[in-house]
Amino acid sequence: MTTQKLLDESETYLMDTYRRLPIVIIKGRGTKVYDSHGKEYTDFVSGIAVNNLGHCHPKVVVALQKQAQRLIHVSNLYHIEPQIRLAKLLVEHSFADRVFFSNSGAEANEAAIKLARKYSKENFSGDRYEIITTLGSFHGRTIATLTATGQEKYQKGFEPLLPGFKYVPFNDPDAVRKAITQKTCALIVEPVQGESGVRVPDENYLKDLRQICDEKNLILILDEVQTGMGRTGKLFAYEHFGIEPDIMTLAKALGGGIAIGATLSKDRFAKAFSPGSHASTFGGNPIACAAACASVEAILEDGFVLDNSRRMGEYLKKGLERLKEDYSFISNIRGIGLLIGMELTTECSNIVMACLERGFLINCTEGNVLRFMPPLIITEKEIDSLLDALDDIFHRILPER
Ligand SMILES: *Cc1c(COP(=O)(O)O)cnc(C)c1O
Repeated sequence: MTTQKLLDESETYLMDTYRRLPIVIIKGRGTKVYDSHGKEYTDFVSGIAVNNLGHCHPKVVVALQKQAQRLIHVSNLYHIEPQIRLAKLLVEHSFADRVFFSNSGAEANEAAIKLARKYSKENFSGDRYEIITTLGSFHGRTIATLTATGQEKYQKGFEPLLPGFKYVPFNDPDAVRKAITQKTCALIVEPVQGESGVRVPDENYLKDLRQICDEKNLILILDEVQTGMGRTGKLFAYEHFGIEPDIMTLAKALGGGIAIGATLSKDRFAKAFSPGSHASTFGGNPIACAAACASVEAILEDGFVLDNSRRMGEYLKKGLERLKEDYSFISNIRGIGLLIGMELTTECSNIVMACLERGFLINCTEGNVLRFMPPLIITEKEIDSLLDALDDIFHRILPER
């Protein structure tokens, strides 16, 4: 089929939920993807922080092939070997004691919300169900996680939302203190807000939240769907901030490109779930878990990936800061590891298009923030090429300087 026919049929047969760029990506290898014309792109999006090991990582591919030949699906009515291996791997490398598997970030957060409510019902008297969440957050698109998402633009048209959520500004521990009532049971927050433009909190923010939760007996839920799996230079972002959560959610990069979500918890809270409390048909299925095991092992193997995420993150950030000195419409550069945002005083979709033409995939969020989240195996040379392309684009297409 010709590319034009594909683009036409895409418009005809799919619901119009995405503003897609006009290419069809048919192949990926490492940091590169290829479109239907054979054009190569260096990927600074990684399927939105999913392909942390690059595309079609050989270890993930082999694990998938082997598992597909052995067993694809069987149900949680039985014990599943790759699921057990993955849970053990995650527990051994995190604060957590137990894991529940699902299929996406929204589902992982949904499980966290349910777990927090159930724990509170069982351990405290009175109606303790309220969850405090931050403005500008993103926690998913199901009704509960959409309600937890502190952005009206995503919620509009889907009301009534779920009762029991309270919104406070991000990076403001005092606002959290003031929002707590007899009914509060938990706090859900991203260590770095990804979707709303890579917002990095002050160094003490999570420590303060931890302290508030300890004082008030509240559950601290960290949504590491985007920041997890080495994206920030540590396996989990909370490791940067000297605290541990009570519950943490993962998805995006966990499965090396395969759909999987995970809700990790300390034993104390995990105990609130008993047989029948919560479930998912595909959650923790053999294929997804085999891919995730291979992916987690490859991220941890010899420390290269995490180290590269830190070093290349610094390198890219420095390069972007140099550009900021030359162009006054660049207002801010922020991020940790390879999750970096460049805020502009102008709209940025035309820059995404210009990058696409030059063979780079980059993302624009919030309308004016360029978000860079390449595979963690990105090289200096590839970063240099992107910086040159951005310099050229900024020089040519943006009139106001
Ligand atoms: C992407 C994202 C989600 C939602 O994940 P889905 O797999 O799309 O449901 C939730 N939280 C954060 C922080 C995310 O970045």
